[in-house]
Amino acid sequence: MSQGTTSSTKPQVHATVEAVRSAVLAAKRDGRRVGFVPTMGALHAGHLSLIRIARRECDFVVVSIFVNPTQFGPHEDLSRYPRPLNADLAMCTGEGVDAVYLPATETMYPPEFATCVEVTGLSDVLEGAHRPGHFRGVTTVVLKLFQVVPADVTYFGQKDYQQQTLIRRMVADLNLPIEIRTCPTVRESDGLALSSRNVYLSADERQSALAPSRCLKLAEDRLRGGDRDLPAIRRAMFDLLAATPHVRPDYATLIHPDTLEEVSHVLPTLVAVVAARVGATRLIDNQIIEGI
Ligand code: AMP
Repeated sequence: MSQGTTSSTKPQVHATVEAVRSAVLAAKRDGRRVGFVPTMGALHAGHLSLIRIARRECDFVVVSIFVNPTQFGPHEDLSRYPRPLNADLAMCTGEGVDAVYLPATETMYPPEFATCVEVTGLSDVLEGAHRPGHFRGVTTVVLKLFQVVPADVTYFGQKDYQQQTLIRRMVADLNLPIEIRTCPTVRESDGLALSSRNVYLSADERQSALAPSRCLKLAEDRLRGGDRDLPAIRRAMFDLLAATPHVRPDYATLIHPDTLEEVSHVLPTLVAVVAARVGATRLIDNQIIEGI
C-alpha cells in the first residue's frame, strides 16, 4: 500500500434490500457498531468528513448513494444532478467504507409505492416553504433507508440544518432505534459551504456564491458586537444578498435552534439561516451562533 493511502479494500456494493440488510445484520451479530451515512452521491469533502467521523466511531460503515426523486420539485435539477458513480466508489474505497448501498429507483419506489411520512410544522417553514413537498420526500426516503440499513448511528451534516432537525424529530416521534450525529459544515477556504451543486456555478457565480457565508458572518459579527436589533440584522443580511450580482435571496433570518421559528429576541443559541439562488443554482447555508 502506498504511503497516505488509507485503504485499498473495495467496499461491498449492494443493490438490493436483502443484501445490504443481511450485511448490516451480520456485522451487528459480530458485535460491530454500525454507522450509516446517507447521501445522494457526487461525494465531496463534506460527505467525506461524515464518513471519517463514522469510521472513527464505528466498526462497520455503510454509505448509501441514491438521488431521491421525491425530494425534487417538478422544475428542479433532478435530471442534471451530478452522478459520478465511479469517482464516488473510489472515494468510498479510499475512506475504508465497508458497504455501499446503491439501490435503483424502482427498488426504492416500485410502481405500487403509496406511503409517505411527514414531519408536520417543521417541514412547512424555510426550505419547506420554498420547496413544497421536499421534506416529505426526504423523511420518507430516510425512514426507508433506516429500515433497510438498521445501523446503530447515522451521520448528517449541519449544512442541511432544517433537514437534521426534521430527522431528529422523526426519529424521536417514531421511536426509531438509531442515534443521530450532526457533523460540522465543511467549507472551501473562502467560506463557501461545499455542496454537490457548486459544480453548476460559472466563474462569476462562484464569486457571488460567497454572499451566503458572508451574510452569516455579518449576523454573527453584529450579534457578538452587541447589536440586539434583530429586524435590522435580518434586513442587513437580506440586503447583502440582494446587492450581490447574480444573487436572488429566498430568505435570510435568525431562528430558534429547535423550533426553527424566527426569534424576536436574542437567545443563548440561535441559528442564522440563508437560502438564495446564485444564477440558476440554489444554495443554502447556516451558522449556529452560541454564547452571545
Ligand atoms: P446530500 O448528498 O447533499 O444529500 O448530502 C448527504 C449528507 O452530507 C447530508 O447529511 C448533508 O447535510 C451532508 N453534507 C452536505 N454538504 C456538506 C458539507 N459541506 N459539510 C458537511 N456535511 C455536508
